[in-house]
Amino acid sequence: MWTVRVFTLYPELFPGPLGSGLYKKALEKKLWSLEIVNIRDYTNDKHKTVDDTPFGGGSGMIIRADVIANSLDNNISNKKEPIIYLSPKGKKFDQTYAKKIKDKNINILCGHFEGVDERLLQTRNIEEVSIGDFVLSGGEIGAFVIIDTVVRLIDGFLGNPESLSEETFEKYLLEYPQYTKPQKWEKKEVPSVLLSGDHAKIKRWRLEQSEDITRRRRPDLWEKYKKNK
Ligand code: SAH
Repeated sequence: MWTVRVFTLYPELFPGPLGSGLYKKALEKKLWSLEIVNIRDYTNDKHKTVDDTPFGGGSGMIIRADVIANSLDNNISNKKEPIIYLSPKGKKFDQTYAKKIKDKNINILCGHFEGVDERLLQTRNIEEVSIGDFVLSGGEIGAFVIIDTVVRLIDGFLGNPESLSEETFEKYLLEYPQYTKPQKWEKKEVPSVLLSGDHAKIKRWRLEQSEDITRRRRPDLWEKYKKNK
């Protein structure tokens, strides 16, 4: 079972989108499990202070290293378990990274305000991970992104695991276009090759479509695809 532990100042946001539909079913089937730790439970004063102003001046607040460390140290018994700190300065999250973490239990730390005291990142087994080149106000939505991506890779989550092997980013290609009923809709027909029943021909057509769309939209992936072909 894949276990993910999330450290957050806003535990009420969880399970959020992960508490319904396929995710909920997968939780019930014990394909994965989610533990939420409220960082605020690990403060040292009666006001439950988690943040303070930055040394050197500047706007915003910084989450204290001692408070977060206290929450991590009291909940992670296996010191080798990776801790991901969501941060716009981190390594970019992608499908390859998701596959890499799917087989180990992970901890996800969600920042807020202007982030966390740098000394925390230096003293714990933390990897900074970004979900893209934009700035969110908190790490929680990033945590949902990571968890969603990994959970659907777990064996038994998708009804038909084959749907994974042809997907976008597999072999550095974007997915080919897909169609369902009705066959004719708003004067548009489904491409006739898909109705031919000729599986080899369909396979060839789909690959061509994938290559074409990847070359036009994502030259960066296209280069990788050509190299790995
Ligand atoms: N002052 C910081 C930004 C803080 S944003 C800076 O300039 O780098 C507040 C929190 O939101 C961060 O601590 C982080 O946990 C989260 N966050 C913001 N953007 C993110 C991104 N692109 N990926 C992952 N987490 C992000």
